[in-house]
Amino acid sequence: MSDFKVVYEKSRPGRTGFSLPVTKIGDSAVDNLIPEQFRRKEEPLLPEQSEPELVRHYIELSLRNHHIDRGFYPLGSCTMKYNPKVNDAAAGLPGFANLHPLTGSENCQGALELMYELADLLARITGFNRATVQPVAGAQCELMGLLLIRAAMKKRGNVRKKILIPDSAHGTNPASVILSGYQVAQFKSTENSMISADHIREVMDEDTAGIMITNPNTLGLFESEIEEIAKIVHDAGGLLYMDGANLNALLGQARPADMGFDIVHYNLHKTMSTPHGGGGPGAGALGITDELIPFLPTPVVEKRGDEYYLDYDRPDSIGRMHSFYGNFGIMVRAYTYIRHLGAVGLKRVSENAVLNANYLKERLKGTYELPNDRICQHEFVLSGNLQKKKGARTSDIAKRLLDYGIHAPTIYFPLIIPEAIMIEPTETESKDMLDYFVDTMLKIDEEISSDAEMVKGAPYTTPVRRLDEVKATKTLDVNYQD
Ligand SMILES: *Cc1c(COP(=O)(O)O)cnc(C)c1O
Repeated sequence: MSDFKVVYEKSRPGRTGFSLPVTKIGDSAVDNLIPEQFRRKEEPLLPEQSEPELVRHYIELSLRNHHIDRGFYPLGSCTMKYNPKVNDAAAGLPGFANLHPLTGSENCQGALELMYELADLLARITGFNRATVQPVAGAQCELMGLLLIRAAMKKRGNVRKKILIPDSAHGTNPASVILSGYQVAQFKSTENSMISADHIREVMDEDTAGIMITNPNTLGLFESEIEEIAKIVHDAGGLLYMDGANLNALLGQARPADMGFDIVHYNLHKTMSTPHGGGGPGAGALGITDELIPFLPTPVVEKRGDEYYLDYDRPDSIGRMHSFYGNFGIMVRAYTYIRHLGAVGLKRVSENAVLNANYLKERLKGTYELPNDRICQHEFVLSGNLQKKKGARTSDIAKRLLDYGIHAPTIYFPLIIPEAIMIEPTETESKDMLDYFVDTMLKIDEEISSDAEMVKGAPYTTPVRRLDEVKATKTLDVNYQD
């Protein structure tokens, strides 16, 4: 960043230094109301820039990064789909954008109605009667879901200690379990990277409060024994949590409630096309069974007749999980997306997401190792084993893709696949783009065959070349100035 700043300062004409042109210190009547010793002695250093300069500055910054509006972003498990601009237009409507968070409910009926309806739509998509949209990330959904399980167990008078998690799970799952005060009981996936009901029968016991399952799992495979697994866990008095961070394969196709889950979370910033990457803001929905409704975090948006209100009076609630009501601007975007597509459109999202993933898988599997050669859902996992033997690793392939204007897939996850390359194209890419990606992956494989050292030096065309990741982690410096 500091490097960029120097270049930028030198290369830009018309910079006049800093000054504050309008009100001079001492001019204002207000100054006299403030005791002398607290008054500013010097004028503040505020940059003086014209609007075009400012726009160019941000456009230039944005071009130094890879993002979904700039290029393909097949980051498995993260669903980097296109963020429709109409969502932003809706969120920018003054009635939404200028709303003060402490506005009385009589003056923000529209906003409350939107939150109520959004939660209702999201609940119905997953097959539940109730959902909350208070969480601001998938990981926060997980923590909230686990606290709901804890509250339900306490109410049943049945305190338990452990939560079962497969070895293919997203890293946030065990982290959330620990945060919620439970212990992680990790179990192994089968050779086909699936969960076996027989195995669950062995590991499920009286001390286990529940199980967290990602479905389709992190290899993009649907857990075909899920109904039986649900029965085993329920019969033993446990609850089932579905990590549906990415619901892109299921929209309009299958409902987690019907599979036997008690809780499902999914990320609006993945499935519902709201922006993410670079730290948010996110939003997650949590769909739950009726048993868990009393424990929902407050405030809950409720409806009495035609009137919407915020209900804080819920004695069994797990309490508040976030300041105010969650990320409202993101809710408006997700609502716009859902209403824009409708039930038929959402179903087509899943059909195309799954079709695109299978298309890529079939075209790539001859050149890259495919550990599970089955029809996949919205994503699939390759292994860079063959390329590693030729002298370049998965991380090198990831870096080289940047030279061709493509963001890397997710790599080295899930942990159970060596040299993993996890690819999720989403439904919003054209066939031309999918073909360009495949052609590039095939080309990189050829490059590795002929000159692995060259690939190991990538990227060559980005503003910043390959970073020393160990140093970046050990001596983290996030200051933009020297
Ligand atoms: C993205 C993701 C999460 C975490 O979501 P955040 O919003 O990043 O906290 C959890 N599980 C899976 C499977 C995911 O893909």
